[in-house]
Amino acid sequence: MGQTAWTTTERRPTNQIHVGGVAVGGGAPVTVQSMTTTKTADVDGTLAQIYALAAAGADLVRCTCNEEAAAEGLARIVPRSPVPIIADIHFHHEMALAALEAGVQGLRLNPGNLRKEAEIKQVAGEAKDRGVPIRIGVNAGSLHPDLYKRFGGATPEALVESARMELAYFAEVGFDDVKISVKASSVPLMIESYRLASETFDHPLHLGVTEAGPPPAGLLKGTAGIATLLAEGIGDTIRYSLTADPVEEARAGRQLLEVLGLRERKGLDLIACPSCGRAEIDVIAVANAVQEALGNRNLPIQVAVMGCVVNGPGEAREADLGIAAGRKRGHLFIKGKIVRVVPEDEMVEALLAEAEKLVSEGVEARLAAADAGAEAEAEADRRELLDAKGPDANASETKVELIRKKFGDGHQPR
Ligand code: SF4
Repeated sequence: MGQTAWTTTERRPTNQIHVGGVAVGGGAPVTVQSMTTTKTADVDGTLAQIYALAAAGADLVRCTCNEEAAAEGLARIVPRSPVPIIADIHFHHEMALAALEAGVQGLRLNPGNLRKEAEIKQVAGEAKDRGVPIRIGVNAGSLHPDLYKRFGGATPEALVESARMELAYFAEVGFDDVKISVKASSVPLMIESYRLASETFDHPLHLGVTEAGPPPAGLLKGTAGIATLLAEGIGDTIRYSLTADPVEEARAGRQLLEVLGLRERKGLDLIACPSCGRAEIDVIAVANAVQEALGNRNLPIQVAVMGCVVNGPGEAREADLGIAAGRKRGHLFIKGKIVRVVPEDEMVEALLAEAEKLVSEGVEARLAAADAGAEAEAEADRRELLDAKGPDANASETKVELIRKKFGDGHQPR
């Protein structure tokens, strides 16, 4: 495989398609998808989940269309959904036709179990007439048996060939409004398959590690596969497949794109030091309290919780807002500048209040409102702590001296 020149921000160019009003590929922001777990025939239950998914960061939502009642449900869901709806189709092409009739904005076909050429072409022709894109959703676990035999297993070549064959059927009816996925539950197989797909096709790619299981292992598998490819500039839309509430999938997808700098931050980015011998507070407890209080507030800021004032404000100077602990007091800082010193038991409350003000008033206004003398007070705390604990709280230098003494002058072990 050749080395790609693409990176997280220099994305591999792809064609652009539109799923309803959402652009995928061709330089559009990478989007997040998830899938409902309700019966699609349960219109109100499914809509409630779609709204929850959209609030958690899903740009697109997929619903199964496995029976007539599901297709009827889609006809009622689509007009009330806050995001475009994609119908997931396996085995039965009639379900794809019914979903199109229901007005879905996208289809997903599995070429591994929907195999009849005439039926595939009929669906593609109908999708073309309605301007609805199709995802060719290849899955290593349900690969066409002929390909399995021909390639000696579910190899990257076999997965990509499956997508290529489907594209060829589509081309015969003049349809190319397509995105492609080549998912596997094995992360290395998934990565290699998508790399090959990105070299083979110009179509946008939908990334995912399928059947990843429950968190935290499922999250790790999904992230290992999806983030690796995104960092190579590969991937236009993503889905975590977790054995969990799908809201977790949407949230994880959104957070991954935010931490990679591929989407604007919508919510809190909490950074916290890992704590060490210098910590003046229980960093884990304070960080959890802040996460709980601010996590669902949609405040698009980076907040730092640092265990000590000796290194905290400096190390977190890029954070919009932060708190560092020292001598039973909390030093509240904005962009590294101390704006207030508060008693330790008030520090979380002070941080939360300042977060709200920062979002409504802006950095400049909040810096201007800083307490006079806060910097000097904080510096005095810092100095006192340094004097009390010394610059080497973990006694590393003392230990190094002791080790050196053991070996004596220039003596090296043989
Ligand atoms: S900020 Fe202070 S307590 Fe936290 S890891 Fe750094 S030195 Fe240790």
